[in-house]
Amino acid sequence: MIDLRSDTFTKPSPDMLKAMFNAQVGDDVFGEDPTVNELEKYCAELFGMEAAVFCPTGTMTNQIAIKCHTQPGDEVICDKVSHVYIYEGGGIAFNSGCQVKTINGTRGLITAEDVVSSINPDDVHKAHSSLVVLENTGNRGGGSCYEIEDILQIQEVCKEHGLKLHLDGARLFNALVAKKQKPLQYGEMFDSISICLSKGLGTPIGSVLLGKTDFIKKARRVRKVMGGGMRQAGYIAAAGLFALHNNVERLAEDHQHAKQIAEALLNKDFTGKMMPVETNIVIFEVLEDYTAPEFCKRMKEYGILCLPISPNQVRMVTHLDVTNEMVKELLETIAAF
Ligand SMILES: *Cc1c(COP(=O)(O)O)cnc(C)c1O
Repeated sequence: MIDLRSDTFTKPSPDMLKAMFNAQVGDDVFGEDPTVNELEKYCAELFGMEAAVFCPTGTMTNQIAIKCHTQPGDEVICDKVSHVYIYEGGGIAFNSGCQVKTINGTRGLITAEDVVSSINPDDVHKAHSSLVVLENTGNRGGGSCYEIEDILQIQEVCKEHGLKLHLDGARLFNALVAKKQKPLQYGEMFDSISICLSKGLGTPIGSVLLGKTDFIKKARRVRKVMGGGMRQAGYIAAAGLFALHNNVERLAEDHQHAKQIAEALLNKDFTGKMMPVETNIVIFEVLEDYTAPEFCKRMKEYGILCLPISPNQVRMVTHLDVTNEMVKELLETIAAF
């Protein structure tokens, strides 16, 4: 099977498993796991941020950040297809008691103008706007990427109005590689950043939340409250360090594969509108007799797994377990389909 449903389907490689097996560990709730400490320090330094905290999932890092940046009754500003809004189980309301003002952005990306017009006036009738969340790359935007200039403008607006700025960077490394941007640029622009190790970087588990020392101190308390205080987590942190050392630059291959797949699909009559392919995600409409679930079912018969994400949209995601040979086979299958 060629599994293109998500970049979360990767399995740890033998070398990654070896790094995990050999990890030095301790009780991380007591701050005594050397490998977790090393991972947190490595990530903080990479982004030029003061501190970091290791968590099991990207949902948890996002939710902790939102909790730490807001008070109950506040309003969080984000795009209408943001992961924090549509894929985290209503966590903004559940965990932080906040409401959301959604922006009708472009492929999941929003602008400084959008943010300005979404900030509530200082009026007792209105919720207090306290946080903006950006997503880079945009998952439902088909792996869309921000320009640094556009984020700088949003940062400016947030500063001017006293709002915090959080980045859901589940696939930030895809954006960094695709746009040739630097982690340090991101550390300067955001109050907090969440990165996932379990997407394109290929670890079985793990996300890291970055921010200022005080913020991360608070985040550790919220992580414990949410049940995310882990003990000998060094075994999984070792996978994260391995991934950051070995699996970042190679994301360019995934992007190349996604472009090849997109081209093959665009040659076919059954392919309708496709989102621009900037990184490792291909989202397209299926036309003619197919619904998205039917299309995916047919593909499965050819040994290819892809994901229907709406009645007529299909998603294919490339990752480190999708080899050159698999892509070649896939291109042939699409051509003959
Ligand atoms: C996957 C993902 C997350 C985090 O998901 P978890 O499965 O909880 O690790 C957050 N944001 C985006 C955009 C994602 O794609």
